Amino acid sequence: MITENQIKKAKNLEEIASLVSDCTRCELYKSKTKDVPGVGSKDAEIMFIGEAPGRDEDQKGEPFVGAAGKFLTEMIEMIGLKRSDVYIGNVVKHRPPGNRDPLPSEIKACFPYLSRQIEVIKPKLIVLLGRHAVSQFLPEFKISRVHGQPKRKNGQIYLPLYHPAAALYNAFMKETLISDFKKIPRVLDKIEIELSSNKEVNQPQQKRLF
Ligand code: URA
Repeated sequence: MITENQIKKAKNLEEIASLVSDCTRCELYKSKTKDVPGVGSKDAEIMFIGEAPGRDEDQKGEPFVGAAGKFLTEMIEMIGLKRSDVYIGNVVKHRPPGNRDPLPSEIKACFPYLSRQIEVIKPKLIVLLGRHAVSQFLPEFKISRVHGQPKRKNGQIYLPLYHPAAALYNAFMKETLISDFKKIPRVLDKIEIELSSNKEVNQPQQKRLF
């Protein structure tokens, strides 16, 4: 079985994806069609994290390619970016049968891949799509209370958002998601300002904009 240590030693996204394709750390590999390790730029400033692949993703081997994915792609383009500018992944890399929620044991088994992807990419901003992603990174918050509000934890900035699939069928949630999504460029600008001012010498105190 692939160990956590092996995952920690993976040098790049390709090595991580190759471990995912041999993974038997939980049972989901038994029913997979394709692996869905994640897609996008290794230099991405923004990483989007969803829950788990669905049927379309399992067929194609790419996250967010079904109806929710089309909506996510439209919102990424709405803020002037392309899918290839960002990184898109999931908490779980293989499809849970029948699109059920991933089990806590499956999330635990799969999480080291996502942790390593984050270490390799070093995104300035991690956008958490939906309550499953939020509960992995910010378990102290409920998405209904903190959606659209950047949160800092252990030096990383997160932006929790409603999941595009949930928002597709709820007009209020959809509007909220679109308006929260439009905050991304401003949040990123603030992160840049903070990073560049903290690089200046003789800075008595680290500047914090969140
Ligand atoms: N929903 C997710 O959370 N991830 C996908 O890849 C597709 C739909």
